[in-house]
Amino acid sequence: MARSWLVGWSLLAMSACAIDDVVDDPADATWLDGKADGASAVNVKDTHLAVDLATHTAVASIELEKIGNVALEAGGLHITKVSDERGKRKYKIVGGKLLVANVHGELVVEYGFDGHSKADGLLPGGSTVVWPYFCGNLFPCHSQPADGTQFTLELDGVPQGKTAVFPAAIDAEAPPYMLAWAVGSYTKKSLGTTAAGTNVSVYYLPNGLSPATTGTQHLVQAFDWYEKTIGPYAFGHDVASVSVVWGEGLYGGMEHHPYWHVARDAMNDEVTHVHEAAHGWFGDGIRLRCWEDFVLSEGTVSYLAARSLGQVAGPAAEAKVWTEYKSELDQAVIDGGAPAWPTGCNQIDILKDKLFTNLPYMEGAYFYKDVAAQVGADVLDGVLHRFYLAHRGKAAGMQDMVNAIKADTGFDPAQLVKDRLRKKF
Ligand SMILES: [Zn+2]
Repeated sequence: MARSWLVGWSLLAMSACAIDDVVDDPADATWLDGKADGASAVNVKDTHLAVDLATHTAVASIELEKIGNVALEAGGLHITKVSDERGKRKYKIVGGKLLVANVHGELVVEYGFDGHSKADGLLPGGSTVVWPYFCGNLFPCHSQPADGTQFTLELDGVPQGKTAVFPAAIDAEAPPYMLAWAVGSYTKKSLGTTAAGTNVSVYYLPNGLSPATTGTQHLVQAFDWYEKTIGPYAFGHDVASVSVVWGEGLYGGMEHHPYWHVARDAMNDEVTHVHEAAHGWFGDGIRLRCWEDFVLSEGTVSYLAARSLGQVAGPAAEAKVWTEYKSELDQAVIDGGAPAWPTGCNQIDILKDKLFTNLPYMEGAYFYKDVAAQVGADVLDGVLHRFYLAHRGKAAGMQDMVNAIKADTGFDPAQLVKDRLRKKF
């Protein structure tokens, strides 16, 4: 997610819950009162989606981590049939959740879905956005970022003359909001291949070649720098920036790896491209343990966007990014919101409680810049590298990062945490 991504949100507070007591009838709702606690839920392992864009129908085949009672967010879906390995199953929809008791084997859900206009599902421009917790408008899901899932996706009914850009498979655990597709009149331009063999491209819309070329001029080198400095990329060997039409009020990009989206109006902005690319390591590659850890995703990639451009485009390019960040930080402080790193775990609603402001992005970026000033930017690169290797494919929190900085460098960032991350403006 890029900075300045301002939307009129329709707000849905959701949390999934499921516990282990085995009951066969979802009408017996005693188990539904279990705590919405990721540790006791039957989590999603794999999500296989077959979507027909012509009819707005889909089949989701969901592999769970174990047998048990399942509660999946599905508030925006019109469910027509639910089955598992024992055949057709009874189900209930309560409070936007699909409830199925005692699921054995793969859970198969047949459903219809609607278009959405507030960045909360399939958008009129042909692309999807389900961040932060709107996956239930597109497929049955747990929206918590800590619950990683692998994906396969098939898209039928793509209008003639249009191209659908989407990953057929995501073979590493990803947060539920990572999956997306984009349908449009795309032209693909290959940008090059990194030393690790990752092919980097850009998909642009009509009349979009010039801004796409400007915005991606260092994208291959930046991606190469991430691979060499942070670690191996998790989501395949083909990646791309994809121009999308989000409509009025939307700006920036979204970390839909391996084909991350960039708003058409931001296609000429290098920072947006390298920011979204960096989410392949932080936010997607390493997931958030709690929404309160949002700064581990956005602060880290905002820092990495500046750092990577400095390394591949030169110190002047990096200085320009920090000048831009400084004015964004000043404005974010004036606008206020939740602290960049609130205490607690999944107690906050990232939208309603105003954690989704520029504070986690910019205070987060400056937190790392201040650490780099103390320990050296190259030493901090090493911390990020070791952190990635330790946590990739899993969920982590900002406290883990603070601990890693202290353990690896001897520098205790406690005062910076207090002044930048915990402070409320
Ligand atoms: Zn972002």
